[in-house]
Amino acid sequence: MRTLIAVFFCLMWYNPNLLYSQIPNNTLQITYVANAGFLVASSTHKVLIDALIKGTYAPPKEITNDIMDSKPPFDSVGLYFITHYHEDHCDPVLVNEYLAKHRNVSLVTSRPTVLFINGNCYEFILLKNQFNELTPEGNQCVAKTIEGIPVKAFGLEHAPYYRNGIEMNQNMLNVSFLFEMDGIRVFHSGDIQTNAFRDYAAKNNKWTDTVDVALLCYGLFESGMPDLDYVVSTLHPKCIVVMHVPPDSNEACATRIEQFKTRFPNIILLKNSMDSQSIDISGMKNE
Ligand SMILES: [Zn+2]
Repeated sequence: MRTLIAVFFCLMWYNPNLLYSQIPNNTLQITYVANAGFLVASSTHKVLIDALIKGTYAPPKEITNDIMDSKPPFDSVGLYFITHYHEDHCDPVLVNEYLAKHRNVSLVTSRPTVLFINGNCYEFILLKNQFNELTPEGNQCVAKTIEGIPVKAFGLEHAPYYRNGIEMNQNMLNVSFLFEMDGIRVFHSGDIQTNAFRDYAAKNNKWTDTVDVALLCYGLFESGMPDLDYVVSTLHPKCIVVMHVPPDSNEACATRIEQFKTRFPNIILLKNSMDSQSIDISGMKNE
């Protein structure tokens, strides 16, 4: 009997399907951290994206502490993605500490972001075995399978911002990630506007990757319905999660999303840190 119990626990330990049995196949659990930061979980994988940040956009301190301590639901994370190193997407000190504390977590980001973190944290390079650098040129894509998750990294232009006639974001490489978790294709835009998709499509004949669940920044919908139309007819998503909403625009954004539902019903906004949505894609069609 004792042997049987031991065998059972060994199976539990080695079979990730059992470890995550609470999430069924074809289902994605999306948990909002803050700004563009999310925990995304499928039946056998968990990833974090742009989740460790400080300042105005940061989540409550307890949430950051739970991530740093890998407390559920932030346990068993496999990949940590960073789209770019603006402070509302990446705090170098927190990321360095997190990766040093959790040596089984793989970092997925571009070379400029690695250099930025290393410039702030001298010892970051000691963690280089955890680095997976995906550095596409502008309007290019690079692909790699990391820890069983196929990842595509797209160099999509960061949303422009002008001051004194100078484009402040011209040197910032924004990487939009498309990754497949247990057969579910998840897209995280980072900071872009629809022009980024148009430029990519123009340079590559067209955008060819279909998406199941798209995490899209609010800035993508600047012109309202025409932008929604363009995004839906480009990515053909089953579900859209709107993110990176400026705190003072939460209500305006919620109202806008209600209007968007007449065109695309499966569009949602997770307003508060730790709001979580289970998305079963099996009954949904790619638009
Ligand atoms: Zn940015």
